Amino acid sequence: MTEVRDYSNLIGGELRPAAGGGTLDSIDPSTGRVWARVPRSTAEDAEAAVAAARAAFPKWSNLPAAARAHYLRKVAGVFAKHAQELAELETRDNGRTINETAKRDLPGMTYLWNNAAAECASAVEGRSVDFGATSLGVTRREPYGVTLGIIPWNSPISTLSAKAAFALAAGNTVIIKPAEQATVSSLRVAELLKDVLPPGALNVVSGLGEEVGDPLVRHRGVNKISLTGSVDTARIITRASADSLKPLALELGGKSPNIVFADADLDKAAVGVTTQAIFTANAGQICYGGSRVLIQRPVYDEMLHRMKEIAAGIKLGDPSSPETTMGPIVSRAQYERVTSYLEIGAKEGAELVFGGRFGAEVVADPTLTEGYWVEPTLFATTDNSLRICQEEIFGPVAVVLPFDTEEEAVTLANDSVYGLAAGVWTRDLGTAQRMFRNLETGTVWVNTFRKVMFPLEGVKDSGYGHDSVLAYTREKAGLFEF
Ligand code: NAD
Repeated sequence: MTEVRDYSNLIGGELRPAAGGGTLDSIDPSTGRVWARVPRSTAEDAEAAVAAARAAFPKWSNLPAAARAHYLRKVAGVFAKHAQELAELETRDNGRTINETAKRDLPGMTYLWNNAAAECASAVEGRSVDFGATSLGVTRREPYGVTLGIIPWNSPISTLSAKAAFALAAGNTVIIKPAEQATVSSLRVAELLKDVLPPGALNVVSGLGEEVGDPLVRHRGVNKISLTGSVDTARIITRASADSLKPLALELGGKSPNIVFADADLDKAAVGVTTQAIFTANAGQICYGGSRVLIQRPVYDEMLHRMKEIAAGIKLGDPSSPETTMGPIVSRAQYERVTSYLEIGAKEGAELVFGGRFGAEVVADPTLTEGYWVEPTLFATTDNSLRICQEEIFGPVAVVLPFDTEEEAVTLANDSVYGLAAGVWTRDLGTAQRMFRNLETGTVWVNTFRKVMFPLEGVKDSGYGHDSVLAYTREKAGLFEF
């Protein structure tokens, strides 16, 4: 039997269990077995975290930018030193393959924290306006105070880092609320940073959204909230924070179109609409996953053929093996949701191009049969109003639609409540430029996909706001007459 380890919250520089003693089981999604326990925090822990973050704020916010940068570079060093261990934990925690966590996510975190350190200076840059010989207008950037980062399960370490690093760089103190489905990597980061940052500068409090997230959201001692999560949660948080009128940043879901024109480099595009965008190492559990593939009719059959070939080469299995190219779905609830869409697609009359199997059927290893497996699945239709074309599935399930003209591609792509990202595959600069302008999304990738850029900001139901140093400051105005 493998040992089940207990993890703690980080509050005010101390590692503590939940005040009420509650715990939640953490399930390894590749085996369906409990492998760790995390605190099930409540309002009492929320209160303690806010008190600790408020107590730390005056000193942290008054540090010179260079001193804050020094701390953040030390954090970057911790990520570099513990990269392999954190990659392994992240893989165990949410099923994203080791290839991805070790080669892409963790090296990216060292870069992100160093980058936040380099940007500390921009957080203290103000403007000045000369109103004449005796009058000078100035602005100064100020941190909000205590910021709350609420994070999802699909990329915990990266989302924690984006919400903590930039907020800290700007002089805020931070509380992070990880997602209940994948909490361990965030709590291990908290342990590693316990003695690296001043007590209370960064606090991590685990538990359920309704039990500890909600009291944090409502708390008057929290001055800004950044949520990465679902549209439903964003609506709940918006209502819950209304009384205290907090600024929000909402990074939400998507149904991203990935559009292939007939003149595209089809070798690149075939990878770009499959393993790069939706049939990914974390099984398409990506907010900006390219779940709607639009293909211009002259290359439609050829692209389907190529997509099928690439999907057949994807290897599901133990996410900690370097040979595995796709991991499991994060939890039973999410697995049931994803597989329900396989039924919905069939009932709606969409054609199954490939995939469609799930569960024990798609993994050979007998130790993994209780895991949450779904194979890469592609539906085809000409009707963009189907639920599989409109609703975020958040798994390795895509739908392909043909189009004839550029105008039709734009209409289809924009016919969505979401507007997070889009991909465009073409060799024509004019087409690329017009698509960039006409697509109603926060990001457009041309001849690439899923290269993270900041700001990563949505439009429509994909939310608004983003995580960057300036986004964690407000600008105060002063007018000096003498
Ligand atoms: P979710 O909305 O269920 O949960 C996100 C977080 O909100 C969790 O920490 C959860 O505990 C917390 N929460 C839930 N109810 C709460 C409440 N009442 N008060 C305070 N906190 C509460 O999302 P999820 O299922 O963890 O993640 C998947 C979603 O996240 C998808 O929709 C995906 O598209 C989105 N996402 C978006 C981005 C982006 O950058 N735009 C990135 C990753 C994921």
